[in-house]
Amino acid sequence: MTSLDRPHLFIGGSWVPPSSGSSLEVENPATEETIAHVPAGTAEDVDRAVSAARAAFDGWAGLPMAARGEVLDRLHTALAARAGDIAETVGLELGTPLKVAKMVQAGLPLTVLRGYADAAVRPTPEETIGNSLIVHEAVGVVGAITPWNYPLHQVVAKVAAAMAAGCTVVLKPSELTPLVAYLLFDAAEEAGVPAGVLNLVTGTGAEVGAAIAGHPGVDMVSFTGSTATGKAITRAAADRIAKVALELGGKSANIVLEDADVVKAVKVGVGNAFLNSGQTCTAWTRMLVHRSHYDEAVALAAKTAAGYTVGDPFDEGTRLGPLVSGAQRDRVRGFISRASARLVAGGLEAPVPSRGHFVAPTVFADVDPASELAQEEIFGPVLSIIPFGDDDEAVTIANNSRYGLAGGVWGSPDRALAVARRMRTGAVDVNGGAFNPFAPFGGYKQSGVGRELGVYGLAEFQQTKAIQR
Ligand code: NAD
Repeated sequence: MTSLDRPHLFIGGSWVPPSSGSSLEVENPATEETIAHVPAGTAEDVDRAVSAARAAFDGWAGLPMAARGEVLDRLHTALAARAGDIAETVGLELGTPLKVAKMVQAGLPLTVLRGYADAAVRPTPEETIGNSLIVHEAVGVVGAITPWNYPLHQVVAKVAAAMAAGCTVVLKPSELTPLVAYLLFDAAEEAGVPAGVLNLVTGTGAEVGAAIAGHPGVDMVSFTGSTATGKAITRAAADRIAKVALELGGKSANIVLEDADVVKAVKVGVGNAFLNSGQTCTAWTRMLVHRSHYDEAVALAAKTAAGYTVGDPFDEGTRLGPLVSGAQRDRVRGFISRASARLVAGGLEAPVPSRGHFVAPTVFADVDPASELAQEEIFGPVLSIIPFGDDDEAVTIANNSRYGLAGGVWGSPDRALAVARRMRTGAVDVNGGAFNPFAPFGGYKQSGVGRELGVYGLAEFQQTKAIQR
């Protein structure tokens, strides 16, 4: 037992014991110590949670959107009061360095939740097309299944949008990082979110995740995680034609054109690739550089990577924490050991703390665009640099991926924008354009189906009805 243990599930507005006495261990990946236990939920717990969500649906969906916005507003206040705890909890269970954890792991979900509270308070008016009144209605009971890399943001992006739309939710957070989700449910209880609107069932993907995906009472499954699991969830939902929204993997390209500010492009590009130890689905893991700048870019990327301080997430100076688990570290090390490109920074021999799941920031140059290194999502601090000769070749290499989630382009504004338009990907940042938490977020190709965030994210949880008069 530890002081961070959370022995209950949240179902129908109350903390309730799980149906089985089994629990899952939560590890601190920087120390490899067990820091907490959470219930290993079962299909029976999912049944109870879906029933509670179903029972709450008509009342919640029947409220005016502005009334739901007031609940979201209270939820935001209660969650914002926990901002410090959120950053520390994610630092403990995931290993994100505290400074980044405060800004991204705590700051981002609060911004997203604030946005949904505001959007719901000022809903978009209904529309008339000829003799038809077009209305938008909640999809129903939503099963939300989330991963570990941005463990509160990914939960809030689903839960807040679904709630604003009028849906009720059964959430299963990642078994690797379940603790921060508990803070959201503490806040929900304090904010007086009506019973059954939000339900929490912790557990494994194979047991709880699969039970949610295949449950006849779940109208929509909103999933973020690996492409392999996304396919399994889609198959499970297909039998009942349940709606599925998927945010999956990526292998994004950062294109540094001939007329780019190379120093800025490389520095920002390396920072992007290594954010959260490279465990970011949008990470620019392929840096494509025009041949005229290639040697300079490789040298600069290697120097920048070598300058990263790797270590304890709670040390002020730490830039790169551990990977989330031993399995993830071993997987990333496997990619590095199989690579046949030129290693210019990091690698398996580079020093890292002896305890904890650390991998040194690693840069490969002269990477073959068709190789495993350039095609597979590694989900660790590994950057591949690839040269190109002209804009057409850059676009061809960038689009030579089964993924299409994000990307970057650096160059004169018009030329960079023209290249951005040609990239088959859900988002592109031109010359370091900042991430916008209200812009639609999602993937082309095997990076996903549907969009999250902002009004597009809200619409994902709505049905559209035409009423003729
Ligand atoms: P994962 O697919 O293993 O797990 C994600 C969630 O799905 C977890 O809660 C897990 O318990 C659950 N799950 C596993 N098997 C399941 C099954 N058969 N049925 C139902 N649920 C199941 O992914 P992960 O390892 O947690 O996260 C890393 C992956 O997620 C990476 O590939 C990354 O790119 C991707 N990801 C994508 C985005 C995005 O927004 N596009 C964001 C974060 C992570």
